[in-house]
Amino acid sequence: MHEPVNDGLCCAADVFRDGLGALAEPLGGLEDEEGEALPEGLPDVVDCHVHLFPPAIFERIWAWFERYGWPIRYRLHAQETMRFLFARGVKQMVALHYSHKPGLARDMNRFMAELTADDRRVLGTATVLPGEPDAAAILREGLALGLGAVKLHCHVQCMAPDDPEMDAIYRVCSEAGAPLVLHAGREPKSPAYKVDTYAICAAERVEKVLHRWPDLKLLVPHLGADEFEAYHRLMLEHDNLWLDTTMVVAEYLPTMPPRKLLVDRPERLVYGTDFPNLPYAWDREVKKLAALDLGDEVLAAVLHGTARELFAFPE
Ligand SMILES: [Zn+2]
Ligand SMILES: [Zn+2]
Repeated sequence: MHEPVNDGLCCAADVFRDGLGALAEPLGGLEDEEGEALPEGLPDVVDCHVHLFPPAIFERIWAWFERYGWPIRYRLHAQETMRFLFARGVKQMVALHYSHKPGLARDMNRFMAELTADDRRVLGTATVLPGEPDAAAILREGLALGLGAVKLHCHVQCMAPDDPEMDAIYRVCSEAGAPLVLHAGREPKSPAYKVDTYAICAAERVEKVLHRWPDLKLLVPHLGADEFEAYHRLMLEHDNLWLDTTMVVAEYLPTMPPRKLLVDRPERLVYGTDFPNLPYAWDREVKKLAALDLGDEVLAAVLHGTARELFAFPE
């Protein structure tokens, strides 16, 4: 069983400094200019990494970020977050959340299902705390509510990708064909987490999972930050691994991934932002990505093609 972990949750504390980790001090926000809509001429944009939480949990996450991560530029609740992105031209999104205590997941999954039921542009995810009682049943129920994928977070939920308690999760996802979005990269290493993220997260652990669960569709966010070389190899060698770009091409954090990670297998790569928990303009990452001149085919794959193949968006 898990102890309750820090309420801070996310994910977006995805700060890594030259691979050495340790977000000792909160970072500053950027006052960069934001567009009123997506830039003209871009292919369709599907954001595969948007966070939607119930209001009280969102408030706690934002408070945590202000203290340990960075200022939150967009304090938008779930409905506002969806409206904001769609009004600016985003075509579809994958909505992520995760539970940090036993007993929360059923309510969170119901919240997500109700939120996303009436909008075919949103694919909601189910979550669970690995190792909590009835974990497999909770996930199956979530998927039965119409949620089309699963989201978990090793840092917040305090588990290694190859922990035995993860097998029940991998089994449900494999059997259902539901992609699993798993924050399994070791960054950000932060003293605000109750686990040493370098101890529990490693590309080798993820590789074991890929070998053991060939039918699993595993999506690791943030291009696996900061083990870019290792994830590049895993992406080339394994047909059950996908990566998302979230925050690592926005030129906010101090390192950039190698170009080969973005161009060598775009059919394995999806775009994501971590919106609304951002310290910079909502469209910063997509503009930076487009400016990399990856080529039309690569850009179209990353911005929507791969996402629409991987995720079964509601018809
Ligand atoms: Zn994350
Ligand atoms: Zn995130």
